[in-house]
Amino acid sequence: MDLGIQDKIAVVQASSKGLGLGVAHVLSAEGAKVVICARTVSELNNAAAQIHESTGNPVLPVQCDVSKHQQLQSLFRQCRKEFGDPDILVCNAGGPPRGQFSDFSKDDWNQAFQTNFHSAVSSVNQVVEAMKTNGWGRLIFITSMAVKQPINSLVLSNAARSALTAYAKTIANDLAPYGITVNCLLPGPHRTSRLEHLVNDIMEDDGCSMEEAWEKLGTNTPLGRLGRPEELGALAAFICSTQAGFITGQSIVHDGGTIKGLL
Ligand code: NAD
Repeated sequence: MDLGIQDKIAVVQASSKGLGLGVAHVLSAEGAKVVICARTVSELNNAAAQIHESTGNPVLPVQCDVSKHQQLQSLFRQCRKEFGDPDILVCNAGGPPRGQFSDFSKDDWNQAFQTNFHSAVSSVNQVVEAMKTNGWGRLIFITSMAVKQPINSLVLSNAARSALTAYAKTIANDLAPYGITVNCLLPGPHRTSRLEHLVNDIMEDDGCSMEEAWEKLGTNTPLGRLGRPEELGALAAFICSTQAGFITGQSIVHDGGTIKGLL
């Protein structure tokens, strides 16, 4: 199926590894011109080279900490200069730290909301006028299955992502008349560095190898394995497609059946 995103311009945030890289890779494979960003230049350049080598399509790596407003401005400036105004924006960032609610200071809360909420609001503000003028756009927020079922010890994440979900649902209505869709993708457990601490715990407790620990971690999902970043990437690419133009304001879970609720 041709997704109709050949030559579309896509900014995928926090994309030197993990889920962001998976999404950037699939969008590039579908013919989009992709801008990737992360804080560490060496990892970012490796990721850009990896994607370009595999897809042959242009990839622009831009160093950017999405929690910093000026760096976000620079990210979109460089995108416009190199490729043009973004047609697709995938908001993503590293997850907040784990801990009990009583462990966190006001600064911790501010940092979590800056990174996982305000960065997305600021990014949307910087791309949405051009999308409105073009009468087409795709906004995707990578949140977490924690929006449906809060995860113990991840109170910062649970709260910030729920706020982002409410924001997304609200602007989906405002932007629908302009042909701009707004959706959240809710990953469950995926094999990325975000889960390495759990793998280390399993290795320590069970005395097994790292590969065995990854496999054991996967047995907690009904499908018996962890998600792969490129699977989330394929879902994101479909949501960006012309065929998905009637899907907006949704929170789409990608969790191997982990959430137990009906909806
Ligand atoms: P990851 O650690 O594998 O990758 C995170 C990426 O974000 C890296 O490229 C890193 O350089 C970049 N990054 C981190 N902070 C950044 C910042 N401030 N500015 C720019 N780039 C930044 O993590 P992941 O598994 O890909 O997770 C991505 C998001 O999805 C996180 O918010 C995570 O909490 C969430 N999530 C992940 C899972 C999972 O199982 N992996 C499940 C639910 C939610």
